[in-house]
Amino acid sequence: MGIATVNPATGETIKIFESLSQEAIAQKLAIADETFKAYRTTSFKQRAAWLHHAADILDARADEFGRLISLEMGKLLTMGVGEVNKCAMVCRYYADHGADFLRDRPVKTHASQSFVAYQPLGIILAVMPWNFPFWQVFRFAAPALMAGNVGVLKHASNVPQCALAIEQIFHEAGFPVGAFQTLLITASQVAEVIADERVKAATLTGSEGAGASLAAAAGAHLKKTVLELGGSDPFVVLESADLELAATTAVQSRMLNNGQTCISAKRFIVQESIADAFAEKVVQKFAALKVGNPLAPETNIGPLSTSAIKLEIEQQVKDCINAGATVLFGGDPDAIALDPGLVPDNFYPPTLLSDIPADAAIAQQEFFGPVAMMFRVPDINAAIALANDVPFGLGASAWTNDPGERECLIRELEAGAVFINGLVKSDPRMPFGGIKRSGYGRELAAEGIHEFVNIKTVWVK
Ligand code: NAP
Repeated sequence: MGIATVNPATGETIKIFESLSQEAIAQKLAIADETFKAYRTTSFKQRAAWLHHAADILDARADEFGRLISLEMGKLLTMGVGEVNKCAMVCRYYADHGADFLRDRPVKTHASQSFVAYQPLGIILAVMPWNFPFWQVFRFAAPALMAGNVGVLKHASNVPQCALAIEQIFHEAGFPVGAFQTLLITASQVAEVIADERVKAATLTGSEGAGASLAAAAGAHLKKTVLELGGSDPFVVLESADLELAATTAVQSRMLNNGQTCISAKRFIVQESIADAFAEKVVQKFAALKVGNPLAPETNIGPLSTSAIKLEIEQQVKDCINAGATVLFGGDPDAIALDPGLVPDNFYPPTLLSDIPADAAIAQQEFFGPVAMMFRVPDINAAIALANDVPFGLGASAWTNDPGERECLIRELEAGAVFINGLVKSDPRMPFGGIKRSGYGRELAAEGIHEFVNIKTVWVK
């Protein structure tokens, strides 16, 4: 379909956009480059004021932007509004703390004066996914702009109106024209942007394939990248855990964003002695979820963002069954009773699969939909071994009330984040990112703002 708004709930094509020509891209990069020359010298106080203004716009128009998110990618309206409010939060966070993170840091050496200075790099390219179409962009843009960089955004092709709305928000907030621009381009045009010498670095949130492709293009030009990629996060539940709370959180995590969240609990790894009780609770909770119109307040699960995602999840469930899995709940999209006006192409029901052989190839894949795999393990050592036995390492959630087990899980789980007795989530105050094939580099917190700056060593005799 190219770059277009297609309502995933109704199948209606709402707006189609032309991708930018080579000349138009060059023109936007020229504007960004020109803007950077002056923008880099603006004060932290000025940038913070613009970020605060952006936050106020986001909060004031959260309902409008939440509806736009829902229209383009099918998120529940309440979740879309929450996402927009969280963007306001990250703008305020960097407005309030950015100057501290970037202040010259004195270091005692034998020089008469020595310190570390943090300076902006220039134009940073952000390639972003559709699943959190506002949040992913703001968590890049707020620190980048606070640090004095300028940004160009290549957003996912199915959320062009979100991309344009974000550009407009930064303009209305007072940032100079050229400080943040949306490039409506296809994935195949990304390499050309990276190759431009005015673009200094790039970040991508998305699939492994896209990440590898961006990193290769950037590597050819010796440019830094940060990659936030996929995950198949473990949700480990041991005997001493609060089972009810663990089951509630597992369901919440897996179903978040209609199952399309990188840090969802995707593999429930449960100690054998409590596995049946845990599965029973999860099944009860899945059964209570209503699948349907993302704008209706009673809906718990909206559509998948595209029919391609539904086809993929359908195939993955079939592969699990062929590998020997038992379907404990769901698995049949035709059984969903949809309200009139909704098209079945993009809906998939909450599904719980058990008995997947741990060594099956399918057990290694990320499931980007409302489908959970459950595995039974005899003890904590087997739980950790299985949790780590995937190519990914994004976020891990582990449930226990035993202090020894807790320490062991914190230290041994291979992931960019470990949450004990809690839902894995991002928070502007804490760094966010992965290891292994989930990517490298960090966003958010002090670590995030330090990714795209020149960390300059200064030494004065
Ligand atoms: P995707 O296909 O990789 O798309 C993400 C972005 O990359 C889009 O803007 C896409 O543009 C672009 N893109 C695709 N192929 C490219 C290429 N060869 N070169 C340059 N850009 C390219 O990702 P997705 O499948 O839509 O998103 C889901 C994935 O993102 C999942 O794996 C999920 O776990 C991951 N994710 C990770 C995080 C995290 O923080 N770690 C957060 C959210 C999502 P087009 O739309 O034009 O193809």
